Amino acid sequence: MEKYKCKSVGIIGSGIQGVCIGLQLIKKGIPVTIFDRQDPLSNKFQPASYGNAGHFSPYAVLQFNRPDILYDVPKMLFSSYGPLALKWDYIPKMFPWFYNYLKNFGNTSMLHTAKYMHQILSLSNDAYEEIFKEIDTSDLIEKKGIIYVWTKKNLKSRKLEIKVRDDLGIEQKLLTQKEILKLEPNLSPVFDGGVIYEKAMHTRDPHGILKEIFKLFLSKGGKFIQENIVNLHQKNEKQTVIKSETSEYIFEKSVLSSGAFSKHFTDQLGEKIPLDTERGYHVHFKKQDKLISRPVIFLDRGFGMTPMNQGLRAVGTVEFGGLKNPTSKKRIEYLVNCAKELLPQLNKHDDEWLGFRPTLPDFLPVLGPSLKNKNIIYAFGHHHLGWTLGAITGKIVSGIVVEEKTNLDLSPYSSKRFN
Ligand SMILES: Cc1cc2nc3c(=O)[nH]c(=O)nc-3n(C[C@H](O)[C@H](O)[C@H](O)COP(=O)(O)OP(=O)(O)OC[C@H]3O[C@@H](n4cnc5c(N)ncnc54)[C@H](O)[C@@H]3O)c2cc1C
Repeated sequence: MEKYKCKSVGIIGSGIQGVCIGLQLIKKGIPVTIFDRQDPLSNKFQPASYGNAGHFSPYAVLQFNRPDILYDVPKMLFSSYGPLALKWDYIPKMFPWFYNYLKNFGNTSMLHTAKYMHQILSLSNDAYEEIFKEIDTSDLIEKKGIIYVWTKKNLKSRKLEIKVRDDLGIEQKLLTQKEILKLEPNLSPVFDGGVIYEKAMHTRDPHGILKEIFKLFLSKGGKFIQENIVNLHQKNEKQTVIKSETSEYIFEKSVLSSGAFSKHFTDQLGEKIPLDTERGYHVHFKKQDKLISRPVIFLDRGFGMTPMNQGLRAVGTVEFGGLKNPTSKKRIEYLVNCAKELLPQLNKHDDEWLGFRPTLPDFLPVLGPSLKNKNIIYAFGHHHLGWTLGAITGKIVSGIVVEEKTNLDLSPYSSKRFN
């Protein structure tokens, strides 16, 4: 095994980023301890990495900093029934995010984000395949592609998406309504056409996969401590400190991968990083997962459905409202109605869940050393694509920790861009 100088690493957060980073570091022979306030093996563990739509989406390079939606965003925000919503009491707190969002809006920013999302997304499935060789994925992974459907209403946006993907060489197969119904005959024909990403895959249980990766980490000697972490700092050249409510732990290096909750720590470290959250929801229609055989996303509605072991998971919508506001009943209602529009045969739903996408205003994650504390490494802000990017983030960030050389251009992911 290659020898690395780093003697120990502490990681805050056992979401998909934390466990994948932990796994890659332990494979390099470095002692690693992961901290989380919830035990990943328990049913109470319900962060974004638990409740997401389970799509591995290496094609999803385009984000919301794109010029074609300039006029749609305000319209959607002021409508109480749409894919985008706002908790009004949160607007003042969201100001730094919106300010930076507007700065990162437009054609040039859109293409910059697409280019650097593509750089890591194009490696994402291979990185997972390496892990899948070492864990039991039976009944957890399906490779049947992912379908997006749309109406004729926003064809200008659809054309833009197709062009950007074509330019980047991403495989996509456009489908007519008839072709979609042949693949998914139970869908109601409320859409006009769509696209299939045939190489995309999905999991039938994100938590199940995460647990398998976490168990692999433990089996290789990784440690886990269940504690609420309150402080992170660098004491000197050789020591970083992770402090819980009751104890203090010292590591040579620390990794911050606590998703949307990471801002608490970057503020403490004196860095102005405009991380915020796009809240998203899911519900399950139990025993109705057989109605579709692969994920179907209705682009006009900003929602999708994934067949999962817990049932058919209807998932999506974006709500700006921070980490503390309660669940919105209207968002749940919206999801349920959208699901029934595509599948009118659905009946009652269960398991209403709210989760927090960690999002930076330019829709690129932050990967790299803290600017003021070089032994603290950041790994957060994966927004809508953190599930897809878990395994590749593990490889990239473990490489940063041990100061390995890389052919990737990592500068666009540095927190320098906000400071
Ligand atoms: C509705 C929805 C659908 C999505 N669908 C998809 C999808 O289909 N495909 C895709 O690629 N991505 C999807 N995403 C995005 C993806 O789920 C997230 O980007 C990803 O899970 C983030 O992973 P993470 O490890 O950074 O954070 P998290 O999963 O949020 O994990 C962070 C962990 O840190 C812990 N933590 C936080 N603060 C502390 C503290 N102070 N002390 C101790 N522990 C702490 C938390 O308990 C948590 O376990 C979706 C997200 C949502 C909300």
